[in-house]
Amino acid sequence: GTPLAVLGAIGRAARTGAFIKDGTHLEALSTVDTIIFDKTGTLTEGHPQVAQITPGPGHTEGDVLAAAAAAELYSEHPLGQAITAHARARDLRVGRPESFDYEPGRGLSAHVDGRLIQVGNTTLVPGAPASTNADPEQTHLTPVHVAVDGRFIGTIYLADSVRASARRCVDDLRAMGLRVVMLTGDSRATANAIAAQLGIEEVRAELLPGDKLAAITTERTAGHTVAMIGDGVNDAPALARADVGIAMGSGTEVARQSADIVLISSDLSDLTSTVQVARRTRRIVM
Ligand code: ADP
Ligand code: MG
Repeated sequence: GTPLAVLGAIGRAARTGAFIKDGTHLEALSTVDTIIFDKTGTLTEGHPQVAQITPGPGHTEGDVLAAAAAAELYSEHPLGQAITAHARARDLRVGRPESFDYEPGRGLSAHVDGRLIQVGNTTLVPGAPASTNADPEQTHLTPVHVAVDGRFIGTIYLADSVRASARRCVDDLRAMGLRVVMLTGDSRATANAIAAQLGIEEVRAELLPGDKLAAITTERTAGHTVAMIGDGVNDAPALARADVGIAMGSGTEVARQSADIVLISSDLSDLTSTVQVARRTRRIVM
C-alpha cells in the first residue's frame, strides 16, 4: 500500500494546487535534477496579441493581415487565433480557405480565392527573411511570415507576456539546486529574449514536436532525472517520456492526459511547492 506519509503529501500538494495521479510520481519528483520548461503557454501566458505588421515592398499591412487571417480562419493555434481576431477587430474583409494543411511547429498552407497562402516560420514560408527580428525592440516578439503564391509579402509580429509567477519559480528552483532548461518551437531570437528575462541559460529553439521528445531522451540517456512541464499538443510525447510529466491546467487535454501531475490553476509557484512537498516526503519515508 501507499505509505501514509505519501498519502499525506498528496493531500498537501493538492492544497498547493497540484493534482498528482499517483504517489510514485511524487517520489520521482523528489529525485529530479533537471526541470525542462516549454515556453509558449507554460512560461508565457500563451495568449499572443498582434503587436506589429511589417509589409514587404508593394504590400500594405491590410494585405498581409487579410491574407494570413483567411488562411488561419479555422486554426486552433493561439498564433492563428490572434491573427484572425486582429483582422476582425480591424473590420477587414477576410476570405475563407477552401482547404488548409497544418504543419505542427511550422505553420500552415491554405487555398483562398484560388491563391496559395502560406503562414508560418522560415522553414515553411518561401522567401521569408532569415532573421527578421534582430531589432532589439522586437526580439521578444514572435515573427509569423506570410507568402502568397510562393512570394513573401510580409511579417506579422506577435507578443505574448511572461507569466507573473515565472521568474520567481525559475529562481527558486535554481536555489533548490535544480538545473533549468527551456524548449520551444519558437524562433531563436524570441526564445533567447524570453530566456534572458527569466535568467534561463540553457535554451533550445526552433524545435519540431519530435525534437522535444528527442531532447528528453537525450537528457535521460546522459543520466539526468527529468521533469518536463508543458501545455501543448506538441509537448504531450515529451511529457510522457520524462521521469515526471507536469501539465498546466490551462493546457490542452492531451497534455493533461499525458502528464503525471497537473498544476490546476497554472500558477508556477505551485510547481515550486510541489517539489518541496516531494522532497520533504522522501526524507520522511526513506
Ligand atoms: P511552442 O513550442 O513555442 O509551444 P509550436 O510548436 O506550437 O510552439 O509552434 C512553433 C512555431 O511554429 C511558432 O512559433 C510559429 O513560428 C510556427 N507556427 C505553428 N503554428 C502556426 C500557425 N497556426 N500559424 C503560424 N505559425 C505557426
Ligand atoms: Mg506550449
